[in-house]
Amino acid sequence: MADRMAIQDKAYIGGRWVAGNQGCFEVDDPACGEVVARVANVDLDQVEQAIDAASEAFESWRMQPAQARCDRVMAWQRLLLAQQSRLAELITLESGKPMSESMAEVAYGASYLKWFAEQGVRAYGQTLPALAGGRRPMTIKQPVGVVAIITPWNFPLAMIARKVAPALAAGCCVVIKPAAETPLTALALVALAEQAGFPAGCINVVPSTDAAGIGQRLCASTKVRKLSFTGSTAVGRILMAQSAAQVQKVSLELGGNAPFIVFDDADLDSAVAGLMAAKFRNSGQTCVAANRVLVQQGVYEAFVDKVRTKVLALKVGPGAIEGNDIGPLITLEAHRRVSQLVERAVAAGATVSAVGTALPGRFYPPTLLESIRPCNPIWQQEIFGPVLAVSRFDTEEEAVELANSTESGLASYLYSDNVRRVMRVAESLEFGMVGINEGIISAAVAPFGGVKSSGLGREGGQEGLDDYLETKYLCFGH
Ligand code: ADP
Repeated sequence: MADRMAIQDKAYIGGRWVAGNQGCFEVDDPACGEVVARVANVDLDQVEQAIDAASEAFESWRMQPAQARCDRVMAWQRLLLAQQSRLAELITLESGKPMSESMAEVAYGASYLKWFAEQGVRAYGQTLPALAGGRRPMTIKQPVGVVAIITPWNFPLAMIARKVAPALAAGCCVVIKPAAETPLTALALVALAEQAGFPAGCINVVPSTDAAGIGQRLCASTKVRKLSFTGSTAVGRILMAQSAAQVQKVSLELGGNAPFIVFDDADLDSAVAGLMAAKFRNSGQTCVAANRVLVQQGVYEAFVDKVRTKVLALKVGPGAIEGNDIGPLITLEAHRRVSQLVERAVAAGATVSAVGTALPGRFYPPTLLESIRPCNPIWQQEIFGPVLAVSRFDTEEEAVELANSTESGLASYLYSDNVRRVMRVAESLEFGMVGINEGIISAAVAPFGGVKSSGLGREGGQEGLDDYLETKYLCFGH
């Protein structure tokens, strides 16, 4: 268990650890409900102070050589890896996920720091061909300015790393509002940034239970030039509307409703392994989780039999105990939501084909549902729990049509050994990402993001840096 004495519970504003003007709020362990920390609850004046600190720091941070900025990000990455176990314990403590997944999350978060420490020195502009009259056009890349970052609880470290690393490497300064369920990891992460030597004000963290108030304040500020948000589509819409006031740039990584398509010509064992990974990581609480499993008629029974065996073998229990695959859901409210969704799914004709271990509290048993029709409510929204909803189809056209019949467009998955089919279907899927014979697709080198109502912008890859840069056009006269 994490060393409780080492838990950072203050807000971090302008390079100082400060108490919250609104007192504290409690953070609990989802596995047992026990309160594990009381964290500074900032007020809106403190948010304003954080914005001012970031704005002031930006003036000098942007002027540092890119290499100097990136060296800091790399130093931070090394500290992160050196503290991998301690950070993983914190992640498990406040989010509930199994330790093995928390360890993987720290490594994954660190990979973004490394990637952007390397990419930040490659923020190249261009020289363009001369214009009429001998004018010489060129472009330079400059940081957008102060960035507000609002993150969810399902990846308390990685969702922050994915935004803060490119922001800092590009020369931006940040104000982070972590999810109230998981502020401890954010604060520990930033304590390591402080050790890495980022100047005061470059990174600020404002934990709070007043997410809506903070969101409004961040969007109303003329000093905040960009908002980067990961969370629900509903909140993303609110923030996008609010950001119109100052015409802030926005990056939104919102909800998904991923199809997972298994064709008759797929390698079934590989598809089963991919599905288990894509569905049950973090107890199904990921935006790229397989939400709608579509299996072609010819392999349906064989595939579902294999999946059922795997579902029943999943070990449910506290994430801190080694060997458990499925931890608790984040809150009792989340548990209620998943329970109700399954009840509605069954009322709409779904059959319950397997139920794994049921434990009290926030643990939801891994569940396999079949006979899902497209109108079933469980087909139309993110499940965000360890529930597999499986349906069957006949033709490729039918599969693509069903897969695309959603407003979401984040991740999708397809399994087939026919290369022509793979290309056809991958090109037809209206999603920002396609896993082909693969269930785990996210990586620092690759642009992560969605189309349709799943969001705007990309995280990772070259695109992930560009989202924190403005292109300025310079025109030299003759
Ligand atoms: P989830 O369902 O994953 O909790 P949310 O979209 O509710 O997704 O939360 C993601 C992040 O957005 C959290 O940090 C949360 O505190 C914050 N948040 C929630 N509502 C608002 C809002 N109205 N304005 C700004 N941030 C918000």
